[in-house]
Amino acid sequence: MLHPSRLRTLSSELLALLLAASCPGCGEAETVLCDSCRADLQPSVIARTTPAGLPVFAAMTFESTAANCIRRLKDGGETLLATPLGLALDAAVDAALLAGAHSRREVAIVPVPTSSSAFRRRGFRVPELLLERSGSVVTRALVQRGARGDQRGLDAAARVSNVRGTMRPRRSGHDRKALIVDDVMTTGATLDEAAAASVRAGYHVIAAAVLAVTPRHSERIANASGTRSK
Ligand SMILES: [Zn+2]
Repeated sequence: MLHPSRLRTLSSELLALLLAASCPGCGEAETVLCDSCRADLQPSVIARTTPAGLPVFAAMTFESTAANCIRRLKDGGETLLATPLGLALDAAVDAALLAGAHSRREVAIVPVPTSSSAFRRRGFRVPELLLERSGSVVTRALVQRGARGDQRGLDAAARVSNVRGTMRPRRSGHDRKALIVDDVMTTGATLDEAAAASVRAGYHVIAAAVLAVTPRHSERIANASGTRSK
């Protein structure tokens, strides 16, 4: 039990936090996420594949409210957003399990590892935090080996070579099924690398699930011409 004075301090800190907050989607003041933008985070699962052919299930596209919320979580440290985002990711996890008729119990949920510099900067690991907020049991089967260069601004081929050899297994999978999980998929090079490292560890990788996938060029055009994707 918290001492009453500790509780008072905690509530005033929470109140200060709330008063300073603004909605990442629309900018409305004094809210961590307004109701309308929370509704924008409703998952609508999208199926993709990685360059190596791994099936990927994404809860949403990385644009508008979703993109703003993910940036606020990752770059602004607004971990309160990890709960609504984690619940959306959980829908992608469910879709991935359902597609192969796998039960949660038989599949290890393996997050893409975070570099130690990103962990030091943020104080949390994004995929793991999202999974934990939705109540998933996480198997930290992989670790990041050394520093990985920034993937932003690289084309698909450069992304593949940039991540090659950057992950290694930290425990044996004993032929257990595994689902690879990350926050955002761009080309899928990182998911492929994580899947390859998991296979080396002895896991049988069934698919990947991500919170958001960057929209394809054709989808961007469709969205710009008036049909707002939900
Ligand atoms: Zn809003």
